[in-house]
Amino acid sequence: MDYKPPCASSWAWRKVCEVKEIFKAAYGQGKWTDADEDYSINVGYIWLTQHNLDKVTWFKSVWNKFIIPKHSFILRLLNHERLLTLDSLVKIGITHQTNCFLCGIHAETHTHLFQECVFVNRCYTKLLEWLQLQVSGQITATKMLKMRNYTGFIRLLMSSLIADVQYKVWTCRNVCKIEGYVTHPVTIINRVKADCRMWIMNVHVGRLKREEIEWCTRRDLM
Ligand SMILES: [Zn+2]
Repeated sequence: MDYKPPCASSWAWRKVCEVKEIFKAAYGQGKWTDADEDYSINVGYIWLTQHNLDKVTWFKSVWNKFIIPKHSFILRLLNHERLLTLDSLVKIGITHQTNCFLCGIHAETHTHLFQECVFVNRCYTKLLEWLQLQVSGQITATKMLKMRNYTGFIRLLMSSLIADVQYKVWTCRNVCKIEGYVTHPVTIINRVKADCRMWIMNVHVGRLKREEIEWCTRRDLM
């Protein structure tokens, strides 16, 4: 029960041992204590979900039918802070460069690139101008997703637009890293708009309610 994996052991073995440490809390005197039944995978999984898993708040803004899979894939990595940003590359010794490719001033981290960078803020500002919406204080994706002045189709559409902007910011950063130029935020939002217009016209145009059609028409989406 008190076994600790050596530092040189593999990632997979260290993960197995981490799970063992979590499950120790449900054992007393060598027995499964949280239920009357004997231990089974099903009982263990239910105990784990009730006691040890943090609630994922971003699930619906990453996995919904309005977001195309390649965007969901990048957003999932972003929310787990698993994109290969410069701070991660420095930690594993691949580079010594730390400055953000898009602003050239601050250290590139997930928080900087998708929340604080002047570049992403210009993209969010242009997105809100186009959608005729306003956010008080600093604009972030979380604030935009929590805005209360829209529901249903429009809310899902917003999650799709924000996902597209974040995907394009990450792509723009990668292009800048490889080819050395930065796409203008206005161009990024124009591409988001073009994607969205094509998607609405091809997939949703026949299913929209009158007020949703009016909302889209006022924003040049139909
Ligand atoms: Zn930056």
